[in-house]
Amino acid sequence: MSKLTAVVAGGGIAGLATAVALLRVGWRVVVLERAPEFGEVGAGVAITVNGMAGLDALGVADAVRAAGRRIRSAGFQDSGGRWLVRMPDLPAEREPTLWLSAVHRQRLHAALLDAALPDVALPDAAGRARLITGATVTGVEPGEPGGPRARVSYRTGPDVHVVDADLVVAADGLRSTVRAALFPGVRPRYGGATSWRAVIEDIGRIGDTFVAAWGPGAEFGALRISATQVYWYGYVTQAEGTSFDDELAAARARFAGWAPWVTGALAATMPDQLIRHDVFHLPDGVPGYAHGRVALAGDAAHAMLPTSGQGVSTAVEDAVTIGRLIATPVGGGADLGAALAGYDAARRPRCRRIARQAVTIARFGAHLPGGWRQTLRNDLLRVTPARVMITSGRSVVGWAPPPAPAGRGA
Ligand SMILES: Cc1cc2nc3c(=O)[nH]c(=O)nc-3n(C[C@H](O)[C@H](O)[C@H](O)COP(=O)(O)OP(=O)(O)OC[C@H]3O[C@@H](n4cnc5c(N)ncnc54)[C@H](O)[C@@H]3O)c2cc1C
Repeated sequence: MSKLTAVVAGGGIAGLATAVALLRVGWRVVVLERAPEFGEVGAGVAITVNGMAGLDALGVADAVRAAGRRIRSAGFQDSGGRWLVRMPDLPAEREPTLWLSAVHRQRLHAALLDAALPDVALPDAAGRARLITGATVTGVEPGEPGGPRARVSYRTGPDVHVVDADLVVAADGLRSTVRAALFPGVRPRYGGATSWRAVIEDIGRIGDTFVAAWGPGAEFGALRISATQVYWYGYVTQAEGTSFDDELAAARARFAGWAPWVTGALAATMPDQLIRHDVFHLPDGVPGYAHGRVALAGDAAHAMLPTSGQGVSTAVEDAVTIGRLIATPVGGGADLGAALAGYDAARRPRCRRIARQAVTIARFGAHLPGGWRQTLRNDLLRVTPARVMITSGRSVVGWAPPPAPAGRGA
């Protein structure tokens, strides 16, 4: 087993998934998380089959499936609830590439946390990550493969610390401090929309199909994340930084007159269940997902509009790829520089393509203004066979983990 050390900046989904991938092949892992506790905000998430393939490779998929709900069909409606497209075409058809695992983000995070901290007594803390909360990463010296190790500075309260690492993973999200140190020209940009989200008690109107409704400049989607809970989001184009005195009243007003399942979900929402985030992304990408001894993962590398539903799944893909293309070979003595270059080549073109697709989906869907454009888009969708949409999604959800070098795990 290797005695190499990785420091992971950020303990969100990308950070914890990467920690698990590194632990599985014998690395020592330190995760630095700014928040005082590990956790996630209270919303749901839909993980597509590529994300589940990644979680499978990490050994976490069963726990996530058990904590959530399997969704086997999906569709789009207009704002009045009339179907535009249903996938698959016939309810009896099996179309595994459509399947989603819908889960509360806190349960996904908890499953990854359990895997990063397995409940076993292991010598010398091997197999368990060292998780430090309240630890804000403030800077990084990237080091060089084959040369100086990387150095991460972080703060806990008034105390300043420095830790050296063979590998640093920047998983510190959209506003990544590590990325800013390496690529100061890359800045998140407002995506033109904001999103209300809530997890509510079951209202009986939402089945095991993921349904999204499109209206002028808006999308409303809902899916069941457990036997008793439903997750919904209301995504609307809006000027950056808009605020409302009463967020719930504003959300209800924005979706007034939409389909009964939409207004029903809003009516069943309590003010303390509602969250709202303005949506930012990295529309121009990042010049590299690797620099010195640092690899970028998750939103730090490729924050994208949520319209593709790929943020979490691509973060998990990154983690598995770091495990397979960097941690495993480098732990066996391979060159870190070549491994990092392989990671960049495997991930950057794919994630750029998915991020661009998310922008295209937004233009055609949630961001589309009212009037004739809605009519034209809706008419087009009504005559588009579901199969065409399913096939076009395969290049994204058909991802499989890169093969592990013979005889090694994740
Ligand atoms: C409205 C909305 C809806 C979405 N819906 C979906 C969906 O349905 N499906 C989907 O797949 N994706 C969705 N996404 C995208 C998804 O949420 C993100 O892509 C995913 O959470 C990224 O995970 P991450 O770990 O890279 O980043 P984050 O979740 O942002 O985690 C970063 C972590 O780093 C920590 N951190 C930050 N800075 C520092 C620092 N300096 N030092 C130490 N720690 C630090 C943070 O506290 C945080 O814990 C959605 C996004 C939005 C905005």
